[in-house]
Amino acid sequence: MTSHQIRQAFLDFFRSKEHLIVPSAPLVAKNDPTLMFNNSGMAQFKDFFLGNGTPPSRRIADTQKCLRVSGKHNDLEDVGFDTYHHTMFEMLGNWSFGDYFKKEAIAWAWELLTDVYKLPKDRLYVSVFEGNEADGVPFDQEAWDLWKGIVGEDRIILGNKKDNFWEMGDTGPCGPCSEIHVDLRTPAEVAAVSGKSLVNNDHPQVVEIWNLVFMQFERKADGSLIPLPSTHVDTGMGFERLCMAIQQKTSNYDTDVFQNTIQVLETLSGKKYGQNDEPFADIAMRVISDHIRAVSFAITDGQLPSNVKAGYVIRRILRRAVRYGYSYLGFQEPFFHKLVPVLAEQFKDVFTELRDQEEFVTRVILEEEKSFLRTLESGLKRLDSITSGLKEKGINTIPGDEVFELSDTFGFPVDLTALIAREKNFQIDETGYQDALAEQKKRSRQDAAKEATDWIELREYDGVEFLGYDFEETHSHIVKYRKVKTKTGEEYHIVLDRTPFYAEMGGQVGDTGELLLNGEKKEEGGRRIAIVDTKKENDLFIHVSRDKDLDEALSGAGIITAKIDIDRRNKIKSNHTATHLMLSSMREVLGTHVSQKGSFLNDEVLRFDFAHFSKVTDEELRKIEDRVNEKIRENIALDERRNVPIQQALDAGATATFGEKYGDFVRLIIFDPQFSFELCGGTHVPSTGEIGVFKFISEGSVSAGVRRVEAVTGEKALELMRLQEETLNKIKDLLKSPTDLIKAVEGLIEERSALQKKIAALENEKIQALKTTLVENMETHSTFNLIVQKVDVPSADSLKQLSYELRDQVENLIAVFGAEIGGKPQLSVFIAENIVQETGLNAGKIVKDLAKDIRGGGGGQPFFATAGGSDASGLDTALEKAKDLF
Ligand code: ATP
Ligand code: MG
Repeated sequence: MTSHQIRQAFLDFFRSKEHLIVPSAPLVAKNDPTLMFNNSGMAQFKDFFLGNGTPPSRRIADTQKCLRVSGKHNDLEDVGFDTYHHTMFEMLGNWSFGDYFKKEAIAWAWELLTDVYKLPKDRLYVSVFEGNEADGVPFDQEAWDLWKGIVGEDRIILGNKKDNFWEMGDTGPCGPCSEIHVDLRTPAEVAAVSGKSLVNNDHPQVVEIWNLVFMQFERKADGSLIPLPSTHVDTGMGFERLCMAIQQKTSNYDTDVFQNTIQVLETLSGKKYGQNDEPFADIAMRVISDHIRAVSFAITDGQLPSNVKAGYVIRRILRRAVRYGYSYLGFQEPFFHKLVPVLAEQFKDVFTELRDQEEFVTRVILEEEKSFLRTLESGLKRLDSITSGLKEKGINTIPGDEVFELSDTFGFPVDLTALIAREKNFQIDETGYQDALAEQKKRSRQDAAKEATDWIELREYDGVEFLGYDFEETHSHIVKYRKVKTKTGEEYHIVLDRTPFYAEMGGQVGDTGELLLNGEKKEEGGRRIAIVDTKKENDLFIHVSRDKDLDEALSGAGIITAKIDIDRRNKIKSNHTATHLMLSSMREVLGTHVSQKGSFLNDEVLRFDFAHFSKVTDEELRKIEDRVNEKIRENIALDERRNVPIQQALDAGATATFGEKYGDFVRLIIFDPQFSFELCGGTHVPSTGEIGVFKFISEGSVSAGVRRVEAVTGEKALELMRLQEETLNKIKDLLKSPTDLIKAVEGLIEERSALQKKIAALENEKIQALKTTLVENMETHSTFNLIVQKVDVPSADSLKQLSYELRDQVENLIAVFGAEIGGKPQLSVFIAENIVQETGLNAGKIVKDLAKDIRGGGGGQPFFATAGGSDASGLDTALEKAKDLF
């Protein structure tokens, strides 16, 4: 079976078991404070397990793009060295939300693997949770009995809490799991050592392929476990490992999932994969053919390489690949981007988004490669200078913090540093490096540290109703709240059953406002609670308050009034609609390749990142600005359509943003269907005239292929124009209100440069005069001519000019000058080069010595050196000393 057929068979199988097949969520996690990237199939369904939402079906299956390079799951350092861990991989999964449980999950897994995929039964092993006394969780008898009926006792392994008990996080749903492992060794190897003894022992050919999780408990913040009201199934099977098993290979990289890219690498490098004569070349090909997937799909889903957070993770993966290519495959020029088209073709029917953005992804990677290849060279130089410095001191171990700096700043993985070190007969301080790494990890953990209590549930509710498109104020109930300690203090997170508050999403900031409890009269338990932000955590709307001691008020509240800050919201609306008008205008003026790469807008400003490969010229900006303002003046009414089936919307030509996760039904925001037609969940003005006016304030580059513009609207735009007007008026005043302001400023500039020239000429004259007196008063000796003199010159540079000009006039000159320039003492020492050569005198050393008297320091060359200091009263002493010396 090809990998395509294998994936399709999985989805078809579960469709036949009445599962709804859904698309993969984007690789980049949104609205989940605990995750940067989706790292398992269940991540997009978290809310359903937490009870914050209702799934579209109680049975779901899919293939999910996963990335395990940070946080709880980080496999990065293994990738390429082993043959079955990837950065990005597909996780095939089937789910039951309160529907079937262990019996069906186990039976179907077995049916699929052995009947459909025809994996040999005698090569499969399963594991069952052994129980844990401290947690009070018993041995999973149910799973054991079910498996016993299928595979027999001797193929079952007992597993501990680490391998066989799954938890969503420190708190939340959890339960025992059952893993399925496959033994892919040769018959001879199997005869020699039993597969059972190799399960969970890091054997590359005895690997876990599927994990079936049975959610039946909830862990509370105090560590205790309580049974869940309804039980769920969450399974995850590594697609690439499954392909290896079915295609009877011993490495994921030998399957058709990776062979396409590996073949291109063979052609580009002229090396053959798997010949074993160059193990590092093989590792490099694995690393590269793995990493190109992670990098390409992350960029496609909206995460560009950058210097912070998730962007930095992607940049590091990219650099790891480029570096392996550079060191082991001889790629001195960019090559990595050449693999993008291969992947786009391979995944065109599965994850179409890569094909749609092929050119953009290729260019972003190419630019990143170019800049890293430059860094790489400076990193290699840095390593050179470190090792030669150490060699001088007779040390042959590179300290851990240097190794860390190389990896952190130059993207040099430790193994590369170690390898280069070895070539130079050095070793690295591995422990010191680990310490530096641990220290950094500790710092970033502390930065992220947040402590939350359990939710305090006040009443039953059935999902949250967002009413903010239609209302600015609602009557609501508080359904639950929790306290969270953050770096800046304590905050309350409050959840309402219905709310007008928009939660930060799609670039639009969250609403602020207030909750009014029990009328407002204090004596009746009334209270006003200030809401400073509204955030989404998965599908939950969280109203954030920094008010103190709210527990009693919140618990005792009946019906409350939730009210947003309307003035602020109106400004936000203007900025959001303006962003839509701007995007359409940009596509008209710059071309349809312009697509959104990031957006942020609040009540003050709108910021927009978009794919475009050159600077937007002033003329283009003006055209876009004109077009937006034209549309504002047309006062186009908002046409908002809710609950439109997504396919219908896309077919009608609506603009969607890559990497956003859309539901089956979407909201359309239209301002003239011929002009602006977008999928959007944000809030908008009822008609464009409300925006007033639109004005760009900046344009620049964010990263390769991505530009950023900032703009303001309405009141803010007016404010900006006022400010500019004021500045202009001030300048006019200062220039005594000339009739032509520009001419007046040009006149000033001209005058200034004429004056500068005059000053320079005068100074020169002065130096010429000074020279004459100096030569007249020169001390002449048989072997040299000496001038030691305090002089009055305008700058330190004049000392140099003076010395050099005297040299051309006087033979065998030694000249020592002192000067006070702007209150600070300066010294210079000049010694004719023939004297330097004959006597070994050194101006640099002498000036350093003399500088002690002016409390300063300096240096230079043997024939000319200068020093500056802080104590001008020492100048005379220094010059006396110089006289004595010579
Ligand atoms: P392992 O112990 O092999 O790292 P895991 O216990 O981390 O696996 P799970 O979190 O249970 O794996 O994920 C479910 C399935 O996803 C695994 O059975 C495996 O087939 C696959 N898988 C996990 N991590 C990776 C990875 N880095 N690359 C490819 N497949 C993976
Ligand atoms: Mg793992």
